[in-house]
Amino acid sequence: MLAVSTTPRTEDVAARLRDPALFREQAYDCGAWRSAEDGDVRLVTNPSTGMALGTVPALGAAETRATVAAAHAAFAAWRRTLPQERGRILRRWHDLMQQHAEDLAVLMVLEQGKPLAEARGEIQYAAGFIDFYAAEAARVNVEGVTPHLPDCTMTVRREPVGVVACVTPWNFPSAMITRKAAAALAAGCPVVVRPATETPYSALALAELADRAGFPAGTFSVLTGDPEGIVGELCANPLVRALSFTGSTEVGRKLLAQGAATVKKMSMELGGHAPFILYDDVPLDEAVTGAMAAKFATSGQDCLAANRIYVHRRVYDAFVAAFARATEALVVGDGFEPGAEIGPLMHERAVAKCHAHVDDALAKGARLVAGGHAHPYGGLFVAPTVLADVTPAMAIYREETFGPVAAIIPFDDGDDVLAMANDSEYGLVAYVYTRDHGRVQRLVEGLEYGMVAVNRVKITGAPVPFGGVKQSGLGREGSRLGLEEFTELKYVCATV
Ligand code: NAD
Repeated sequence: MLAVSTTPRTEDVAARLRDPALFREQAYDCGAWRSAEDGDVRLVTNPSTGMALGTVPALGAAETRATVAAAHAAFAAWRRTLPQERGRILRRWHDLMQQHAEDLAVLMVLEQGKPLAEARGEIQYAAGFIDFYAAEAARVNVEGVTPHLPDCTMTVRREPVGVVACVTPWNFPSAMITRKAAAALAAGCPVVVRPATETPYSALALAELADRAGFPAGTFSVLTGDPEGIVGELCANPLVRALSFTGSTEVGRKLLAQGAATVKKMSMELGGHAPFILYDDVPLDEAVTGAMAAKFATSGQDCLAANRIYVHRRVYDAFVAAFARATEALVVGDGFEPGAEIGPLMHERAVAKCHAHVDDALAKGARLVAGGHAHPYGGLFVAPTVLADVTPAMAIYREETFGPVAAIIPFDDGDDVLAMANDSEYGLVAYVYTRDHGRVQRLVEGLEYGMVAVNRVKITGAPVPFGGVKQSGLGREGSRLGLEEFTELKYVCATV
């Protein structure tokens, strides 16, 4: 059994790494490692054990202003650096990530808590964006125009937007940074990252590797500390020309309002509340495997998590029973425990939200078919839980639980499951399981979601556009489109 300590002792993080220099307790500011002006620090803890991992500088608005000014100064040379050379530096960064993949995964387990296998997967996913944009750097093309006016030439140039701010969440501490930063750097923009308060060490290890890869000073910085001070400055500063945020819809709305004063480009990857629609023509095993992966990846702390599992009445009872059995069999534990599938949640408030959603659903008539009790590990561990007969009156039907609690809803032939799936302010991803082509076509056309997965769960990767509609966000990451978020068009009409 895990021991969850109440008074944090310090874990020796460096001793767990093959390259201890990847554990950095300072911020990376325009090519130099630094502390806060006033020496203030924030404690970082391991969510599995409650033990302290170390500290990071608590930087604020004034330090951020200076970093942005230095990044802006570096912009002139970085935008003129040949795209092929930017690509070469990105490639070295990617190769260093691969060389140090195991250390990066270990750091992630220590500060985020996810199982080691998931952390290894995230490092590969994260490195994939750098690999992709290293090649894409040289393909930021000028578009041709056929003139509609006499005696002139017309061109449209695609130019880097300027300093880009990246604000990222704790559930994917590496991939949410590389998905943004690799695209912006490839486009010729300097980048200032503000990683999540809870998971700075993955970001600082990426900074150490970026330093070794040879990015010029000022083109890449990672500032740790006060979210309101740092992010407030990034939003207000006119030299920041684009801000790319991944996190909750609630904070995204605030940042959109704060960024409005300086009319910058804002990309938003926000919350999700994915429907998973299962018809009765799919083998039960395949349906359960798919739904388990879609619900419980990242311990349910995933914007792509299948939060509303709609199951056709003809297979409902069989599915509920099999899904409950599979859920009870999930291995909960510290991310380093062999075979661990579900780690701890990130905060007390996340644990409280899971329990509140379960209590509310049970009070309104849901049926508890797995879990539901406090997990014996205590601390931030929650027992994987399944609720059947969930209805729209329950909080879990409307809100992201962001934890290992599954909600199953039956539907009948006469029900409009498409309308049920679209009945949400979110629109990130939807899952459809059926072999009927007509149904697939109708659902794919009708689903108000940025991404649709049909008879499969894993669909993301660097070459494809990731993003949502409605209140799940604005813009796309990954693919060529992700690069375009960090460029502006300049139309030139010349008579010479
Ligand atoms: P969050 O919105 O609380 O925090 C995101 C980032 O913003 C963190 O760096 C945080 O420190 C910072 N922040 C928080 N409050 C702030 C404030 N008032 N001003 C400025 N910055 C502030 O989100 P989270 O809890 O870290 O992550 C979970 C959320 O992220 C979920 O809603 C999830 O769906 C979403 N998410 C979306 C995607 C996607 O690609 N669409 C991916 C991962 C997570």
